[in-house]
Amino acid sequence: MTAPQAIRATNKKNCPPLQSTKRKSRAPNQTVKSAPGVNAAEPKEQIEKVFRALDRRNAGVVSAQAIIDTLKKNGILIDDPRIRHSILKLNSHTGPVTLAQIADIFDANFSLIECAVKDRYIVPQFSAFTGEINNIFDECMQVKDGAVADYIPQLARIDPEQFAVAITTTDGQRAAYGDFDTPYCVQSSCKPVNYAMALEQHGEEFVHGHVGREPSGRGFNELALNPKGLPHNPMINAGAIMSCSMIDPEMPLADRFDHVVQIWTKLSGGSPPGFNNSVFLSEKATADRNFALAYFMQEKRAFPKNTNMLEALDFYFQACSIEVTARQMSVVAATLANSGVCPMTNERIFSNDTVKNCLSLMYSCGMYDFSGEFAFTIGLPAKSGVSGALMVVIPQVMGFAIWSPRLDELGNSVRGVEFCRKLVERFSFHNYDNISNHATKKDPTKREAQQRSDQTYQLINAASLGDINEISRLVAHGAEVNAADYDGRTPLHLAAAEGRLEAVDYLLLRQAEPTAKDRWGATPIDDAKRHRHPDVEKRLRARRAGLCAAT
Ligand code: GLU
Repeated sequence: MTAPQAIRATNKKNCPPLQSTKRKSRAPNQTVKSAPGVNAAEPKEQIEKVFRALDRRNAGVVSAQAIIDTLKKNGILIDDPRIRHSILKLNSHTGPVTLAQIADIFDANFSLIECAVKDRYIVPQFSAFTGEINNIFDECMQVKDGAVADYIPQLARIDPEQFAVAITTTDGQRAAYGDFDTPYCVQSSCKPVNYAMALEQHGEEFVHGHVGREPSGRGFNELALNPKGLPHNPMINAGAIMSCSMIDPEMPLADRFDHVVQIWTKLSGGSPPGFNNSVFLSEKATADRNFALAYFMQEKRAFPKNTNMLEALDFYFQACSIEVTARQMSVVAATLANSGVCPMTNERIFSNDTVKNCLSLMYSCGMYDFSGEFAFTIGLPAKSGVSGALMVVIPQVMGFAIWSPRLDELGNSVRGVEFCRKLVERFSFHNYDNISNHATKKDPTKREAQQRSDQTYQLINAASLGDINEISRLVAHGAEVNAADYDGRTPLHLAAAEGRLEAVDYLLLRQAEPTAKDRWGATPIDDAKRHRHPDVEKRLRARRAGLCAAT
């Protein structure tokens, strides 16, 4: 099975309009006004083909419900901004839908149905995938360890049992579990957004003239700067205060905050975030450490010229007090996964370079003092916050938002980290799963049948090389020893043809068929003979004789 990187490079599906949202390289910062799926000139034959696929009874009509169900099964929900208009039309439509009507109802975004019918979304078997996510959610629900943050009463009062998980893919497929519509404070998970905004406005060189990009190896709010007197990175408090100081410094604070809210709205597909004023006031009232950090940076002349440091601090507290639901946050994560283009609106919010920098630092510094461990075991860019927020990005595939208020001693959501552990145990999402282990994990960007054929191919390949370790690993993970490729060639054919006696013995022990015929009618015995491997031939014949005697 191919691992995420390979998929990311090669396996983006070919659904034309959706593909155009992420494949065509667009000039950085270019804003795309139209929603994905805009495809005024969808060829008539395409529409007909899709309609025929929906019209299972060949009745010349399809029910509105069948259309909605097809979209829903693929994670395209009825509140999706891309189809809002079509759903309104569909709801006011009476009776079943004809070919001409479907073309009219989905005029601008027909590709969303087309991709659903043709299995061209990034996660083709979305219901199967979300079923497994649901299982992981249920398992994590049992975890009760940790304690809610109590440094301000507003967080200490949060119901610790709350738990939400939401997913959005880079094609805008969505699913959510638990308390996904309950707003929570973003806290430190605002740091990637602040940093990205600073990068967009000033560029990498200027921004990193004021903030480093090394993990600090210290607590997130430790009173420490790097040897140049700068914050270690933008994912810890000092660095985030620095990012805030660089966002629209020339504007009044109210306008700066409006701009941040506007970016959060765009990142989350058009739904504005909330703001928790009591958290803000409480944060500000108990922020001695953040004040100390800001004064320390001021003393070291770390801020850009003319920075109003106290205003930057205030702005930082405001940014931490922004509230989102897990559903919204998953779209933010998906926008980062989609290189800065929001999958729900097709609008570019951040440039590719900004997102690359942001994900790099989330990867190395996003999980407080657990960042190295998280990068090692989970292998994904993520950012947590003391509210129990956790945003995880699977580049070019999807974004996750997890929220559960109980934290471990390092400040990360206990269930959030556990969820990620289980996620990468089952799916090949770890950044380096293409190097090892990937055969044991599922790749949701592939159909099950494709995964099976990948496994067969790997086993055949291992058999031809006589790689016993690899063969036994694949078999242990369910590879079928008698599975054949398109030409009917089994692992035993290849092991026999290459004279791999040890592999032949291993496969025979596991009931591989010495008389399986390939498409030309040749058996492994024939292969061993043709390629002059008498020892292998003898073994195979003995096995066949044994089998005959036994029957
Ligand atoms: N508002 C918090 C602080 O600055 C953010 C803490 C966090 O989520 O890491 O202390």
